[in-house]
Amino acid sequence: MIELTDVSKSYRVRSASVEALRNINLTVNKGEIYGIIGHSGAGKSTLLRCINLLEQPSGGSVKVAGVELTALGSVQLQKERRRIGMIFQHFNLLTSATVRDNIAFPLKLAREPRAKWRKRVDELLKLVGLEQHADKYPSQLSGGQKQRVGIARALANNPDVLLCDEATSALDPQTTNAILSLLLDINDKLGITIVLITHEMNVIRSICDRVAVIDGGQIVEEGQVLDVFLKPQHPVTQDFVDQVSDAVDPRALQQGRNSRLLRVHYVGRLTYEPILFNAMKSSSVQFAILQGTVSRMKHTPYGQIIVELIGENAEIERIIDVLRHEGLNVEDLI
Ligand code: ADP
Repeated sequence: MIELTDVSKSYRVRSASVEALRNINLTVNKGEIYGIIGHSGAGKSTLLRCINLLEQPSGGSVKVAGVELTALGSVQLQKERRRIGMIFQHFNLLTSATVRDNIAFPLKLAREPRAKWRKRVDELLKLVGLEQHADKYPSQLSGGQKQRVGIARALANNPDVLLCDEATSALDPQTTNAILSLLLDINDKLGITIVLITHEMNVIRSICDRVAVIDGGQIVEEGQVLDVFLKPQHPVTQDFVDQVSDAVDPRALQQGRNSRLLRVHYVGRLTYEPILFNAMKSSSVQFAILQGTVSRMKHTPYGQIIVELIGENAEIERIIDVLRHEGLNVEDLI
């Protein structure tokens, strides 16, 4: 659905040139929720704005739904942009227009007849749960409600793609979760492709299928969220993963002298199975769980425990083999 090939962007600041993006190659599939995470100044906003050409790349090509946007003139580009909706951190609503008029704005701009846009606005109000607030002004709404207006407005023209620019960064955690659920719901119901940028790993973990980690204008890691999350390769990725685990250095937790410290991951149905219990019940090895979490990545449950095994080394090795054979990911921490 989206294909960026060798995209670069540099800005001239006085006599110097700032390279905000360097040779970005990225493919987002139809119907996917794709997250781009990075620290402040990494190039996230620039990258997102290169997708709808709000920023003109200095080099490379951008294709959306089979159309090479970088090859279009301004009239054609204007038309193609209707297939790409966008929402913003600070909502960017018209303060002197009601919720209904904010949502209707892109439809009026596209010269839709009145009866048609009124019907569409009603559908959108329902989709984002704002039927009761249609005649209010933005100043009368909470942050979460304002973002719902932003989402409805972005969807007005039935776009194929929704770009989300730090859409939950101005919201409290509870409202963030509600907006993320709404995005997930829209993705499920409408099959719309979503690209979001964020500096919060929680956002990636909750709703994304794939993620790219950007640092210094380059993609330093990319893949399925589950893989990147469970086996981060780049130090910047590790930083972000640490954001959502309350990890203490597990070595500081170790009690015994002749013990082994293991990190065990399990994904999907394995999360609910008593594999550790079964492996240990006929063994002389003792164990202590030093840390543990069960969580969810988009629709997939996963868990992670840090466990200390105490006993004969050969027997510990046998236990590790059993766990691996059952499909758990076992990592030795010592
Ligand atoms: P992020 O969204 O990850 O915080 P940005 O894409 O905003 O990062 O910025 C990437 C880099 O490009 C930064 O070094 C920033 O200072 C620079 N930059 C962004 N926009 C401009 C601009 N309009 N003019 C000059 N430099 C810019």
